Amino acid sequence: MLVFNHSILEKALNALLLGKCCDINAGSQFAEILGVLICPLWLCVGMFRERTSMFNQHNLEEILDRARAAFIGMAIGDALGASVEFLTASEIAEKYGTFRNIVGGGWLRLKPGQVTDDTEMALCIARAILQNQTWSVEAIAENFAAWLKSRPVDCGDTCRKGIRAYIINRQLVAPPNEWDAGNGAAMRILPAVLFSLPDGELLKKYVIEQAHITHNNPVSDAACLCLGQLLHMALCGAEKSRLLRHVDILVSRIPAFNYVPYHGLASGYVVDTIQTVFHWFFRGRSFEECLVGTVNQGGDADTTGAICGMLAGAYYGMAAIPQRWLKKMDVKVIAEIDTITKLLLAYRSFCKFIKA
Ligand code: MN
Ligand code: MN
Repeated sequence: MLVFNHSILEKALNALLLGKCCDINAGSQFAEILGVLICPLWLCVGMFRERTSMFNQHNLEEILDRARAAFIGMAIGDALGASVEFLTASEIAEKYGTFRNIVGGGWLRLKPGQVTDDTEMALCIARAILQNQTWSVEAIAENFAAWLKSRPVDCGDTCRKGIRAYIINRQLVAPPNEWDAGNGAAMRILPAVLFSLPDGELLKKYVIEQAHITHNNPVSDAACLCLGQLLHMALCGAEKSRLLRHVDILVSRIPAFNYVPYHGLASGYVVDTIQTVFHWFFRGRSFEECLVGTVNQGGDADTTGAICGMLAGAYYGMAAIPQRWLKKMDVKVIAEIDTITKLLLAYRSFCKFIKA
């Protein structure tokens, strides 16, 4: 009986995914329809896997809600923080008191709600997974290359260097470099996190492979992995006390990540970025508090905002995201995130079911 159901589901999903209807880039209505079709399918699949799967111990709808909130939270943190990127905390305080609204501007002269490279690179990874219906580093690098050629509003130096090396030499793994400890690999990990949920080994593989296209550095790797594991835990509903214990393990292994006492550095160096995110995430009592604290620290505020946004989104869920922020966001970006999140989880859960 189960075998019969497997093959029916497999055929149905392949027909849908192989058809041209899944053109996520074009933002076609078909992709949304597909999301709606797959959601019940995914729920059915979840029910079949009752005894073994984490998806059955937790409410599937709750995980989807947390995943959406993580992706949207990332985009919101990016759009919010970009206005104050490269200002110092005291410059922000002088100009705004406490900065708490999505207003655009900043050094990139953004429209209110416009996202930057942080969100765009994460979308490149998500689209590569869905276009190929599997994990492919080549496809991700290819999307990064197309994105760089499209003259994005911003791109970090290490990311640019890595993508150029791919365009010129087809290089998929940047040479190890002790200076490449920027936050550019950590800021875009969310699709790798969602597509590996809840498998810790797959998480490692995906998170590190996407990172090494541009950042091949042990400190960046450690940050990406720890952040990825925290996201897996938060998406499955772990309490902050449990997340905190996990962070303590990272800090005992790599003391540089210790954020207590917090020294207020919020640069693009991944150690500063992670310290800032941990400090504000663990002391904040709501999605809004976590994000406002983080971006008011200034520095690489769009990226600390994006990372704190994905973590706080996964932890607090959609209901905690302020409407005044959500309303300011680029409607197209939010629509694509909604579709992508559903498909990443649906396809992931479906693949596991087929193999089981
Ligand atoms: Mn950015
Ligand atoms: Mn940035």
